[in-house]
Amino acid sequence: MRCPWCGNGNDKVVDSRLVEDGDVIRRRRECLACKRRYTTYERLAEAPLWVVKSSGVREPFDRTKIITGVKSASKNRPINDDQIEELALAVEETLRERGPEVESSRIGMTVLSSLQRLDGVAYIRFASVYKNFDGANDFQKELGILEKSATGRASKARGVKRVKPQ
Ligand SMILES: [Zn+2]
Repeated sequence: MRCPWCGNGNDKVVDSRLVEDGDVIRRRRECLACKRRYTTYERLAEAPLWVVKSSGVREPFDRTKIITGVKSASKNRPINDDQIEELALAVEETLRERGPEVESSRIGMTVLSSLQRLDGVAYIRFASVYKNFDGANDFQKELGILEKSATGRASKARGVKRVKPQ
């Protein structure tokens, strides 16, 4: 596991514990180079994640749809493929914590809150496209909340990390 602080690939596990009713193992790791600590979560990759659309139809979660959507929203913006991949992985992590079923509007919101931190223009573009293909009232409401929280905050371009340093 690459250290999120210095990029070194060697670490040692200092603590492991079961969380989320034993479905997930949380590991505290210490970088052997810089000695800083970070946390990883380990879970079955095969655990199914279902998307419930506003019509009530269920379909398996597909991360490539997020990548495609974010890619088109970030055209000509200073966002590279690695950052998009990281964002999609982070979104999937967040959704799996809520799984095994998530509403499609939840996916859009999760992508938006990550994009907001990454690039303001891509965020607005994704929001306008997303609004058109899923016009749920809840989504509109939540979008309003997000936009309010964005006011006054400088949109700094920074990567979304899958591993959360603590
Ligand atoms: Zn390190």
